[in-house]
Amino acid sequence: MKNVPEYFGCDVFSTSVMKERLPKETFEEFQRTLETGHRLDITVAKVIADAMKDWAIEKGATHYTHWFQPLTGITAEKHDSFITPTKDGGIIMEFSGKELIQGEPDASSFPNGGIRSTFEARGYTAWDPTSFAFIKNGVLCIPTAFCSYGGEALDKKTPLLRSMEAINKQTLRVLKLFGNEDVVSVKTTVGPEQEYFLIDSEVFHKRKDLVYTGRTLFGAKPPKGQELDDHYFGAIKPRVQAFMKDLDEELWRLGVHAKTEHNEAAPAQHELAPIFNTTNIATDHNQITMETMQKCAKNHGMVCLLHEKPFDGVNGSGKHNNWSISTNTGANLLEPGDTPSENAQFLLFLCAVIKAVDDYQDLLRVSIASAGNDHRLGAQEAPPAIVSMFLGEELTEILESIEKGEDYEGSKEKELLKVGVHVLPRFPKDTTDRNRTSPFAFTGNKFEFRMLGSSASVAGPNTTLNTAVAEVLSQFADELEGVDDFESALHDLIRRVIKDHKRIIFNGNGYDDAWVEEAEKRGLLNLRTTPECLPYMLHDKNVELYKKHKVYSEAEIKAHYEIKNEKYCKYLNIEVLTMIDMTKKDILPCVSRQIHELSDTLIAKKNAIAGIDTSYETIVITKLSNLSKIAFDVVRQLEENSKIVKTIDESDAASFYYKNNIIPLMETLRNAVDEMETLCPSDKWCYPSYGDLLFSVK
Ligand code: ADP
Ligand code: MG
Repeated sequence: MKNVPEYFGCDVFSTSVMKERLPKETFEEFQRTLETGHRLDITVAKVIADAMKDWAIEKGATHYTHWFQPLTGITAEKHDSFITPTKDGGIIMEFSGKELIQGEPDASSFPNGGIRSTFEARGYTAWDPTSFAFIKNGVLCIPTAFCSYGGEALDKKTPLLRSMEAINKQTLRVLKLFGNEDVVSVKTTVGPEQEYFLIDSEVFHKRKDLVYTGRTLFGAKPPKGQELDDHYFGAIKPRVQAFMKDLDEELWRLGVHAKTEHNEAAPAQHELAPIFNTTNIATDHNQITMETMQKCAKNHGMVCLLHEKPFDGVNGSGKHNNWSISTNTGANLLEPGDTPSENAQFLLFLCAVIKAVDDYQDLLRVSIASAGNDHRLGAQEAPPAIVSMFLGEELTEILESIEKGEDYEGSKEKELLKVGVHVLPRFPKDTTDRNRTSPFAFTGNKFEFRMLGSSASVAGPNTTLNTAVAEVLSQFADELEGVDDFESALHDLIRRVIKDHKRIIFNGNGYDDAWVEEAEKRGLLNLRTTPECLPYMLHDKNVELYKKHKVYSEAEIKAHYEIKNEKYCKYLNIEVLTMIDMTKKDILPCVSRQIHELSDTLIAKKNAIAGIDTSYETIVITKLSNLSKIAFDVVRQLEENSKIVKTIDESDAASFYYKNNIIPLMETLRNAVDEMETLCPSDKWCYPSYGDLLFSVK
């Protein structure tokens, strides 16, 4: 096996490969196109397509695909081979410029929220040249955006790219005010930390709930969970280590900077963090990472669970989204500076994020909403559904002194802290990052948005975050452009933002019940479930935001609203049907057999010895029998309600019906079944237990 630097990125059609393989003019023209964001000339595309095809064929590829991210949340691909018949009955391998830059998949089979009218089923995929093509399983994958015939975004990538454009534009306006004339573009950067579970595939396949829904719908708590904290950062088991080695290798070949891997808090839970990258590339890489994890796990006889809450009562999986803004000159705009002017600029960007998170807390909540994540938010291991920000004590104190125009205690000379005049003290990174309970934490030189679920694409949350910050920066630029006394205008603005938006800052324990009360007093939203938060998408202020920055059109917002509701309903529908199936076909028959066996024992005992104590048998039979009745009644009610929900036409009303009339029944059913599980012998229960699952990988 070669050294890592030798094979890193070997399956990627990267800048260096292009430089080597493209004629000089083509390469330079392509680079210019990337910088300016202009449309790629078809003649240039043709040359690139040819070089790409030759390179791919040398690497054993026979097919190509436009690789895109429809609103299903996973990636989609349709493979076309390079073969083209020749007149003499042979074939040649061909790939045209047009095939590179545009594809025409049928949009009707992907979620489209009613955008696509039936007479125009075509959709388009368009090459995103800022994300490199790569080879996966012998297929040349070309990252693309996906839209309808009318140009509406039907994917996650298009709005994301638009939001990056929006924040670029507004950030440049603000940077100009500080005299940064050399900066020509800024990009947001993301490092998504990916959590996941690994379980043995044999036990996985014995659980219909895991197979159909990705999470356990039943399961009594095991005697040992994560209470000993012995898994977090614990020694990695050899089988998992072998998996991680393969995973790293595959990811490195694909140019993904997989960096850190460790065990997480729950048994069988792990994490992979890459080195951060430009947001659209980080998004692609995260999709590749999730897919590769699942593939590698299979090769090792395991299954990788990406669901947000595979096991009740055990930590769920999230995806911490580390986010910042960088300039083309290499500056991180969320890094506190060394000079007064750099500090003033840092404070302004910090305030922009504070205001954006406060003003658009609803949209941020929406951006991470899913049926799966509802189980995780507000459980003991994850931030609550309330959006708040952690800045750390030191930074908060600084903001407080600016707001009040007071001395800053932390400074040696106890001077009046004035923005743009003083050098702020350095914030040691370590002291800023130790609050794990905050949904949105400043961690020294970046923000960490921690509410994301593990299975979802990071595109949505970053689209929202970029757009919200872009909007606030545009407000700041509007206010500051053309003022006579920039320094005092800046100072006033920062003070006002702190005063108006400090309610979003919370440095305490986000898992504490007292915080829920406190947040309510502060007027912060607490949108506990997906159906409750989705309607905020359609609020005027939010529609205006997306329209103004050309991230979503009104039609797209409505379509995406529809799709999110539909998706929620579909997931729940599958869960309900799975629960019903498991209860009727496996669980109740299993319990009946157990009752039968105990009854036989009871009679046999009585016959053998007169007056013998049979309290064990009697009590267990009675309990099982009562619980079976409850379970059976709830199943019938669930069947009834599942029929009713199908008659509801509006998807938002249907999602509320699931939340109010179906989920509570699912919980009752689960409780009854879990209790029955504890009353049955281990070897007689119809499914592998939590213990079998969580400790399945030896
Ligand atoms: P942890 O949060 O577990 O303490 P780190 O803080 O070291 O771990 O980093 C977490 C992630 O943040 C990594 O993926 C890292 O690449 C990413 N990261 C670091 N700097 C930035 C940045 N400027 N923009 C986006 N992500 C970043
Ligand atoms: Mg982290």
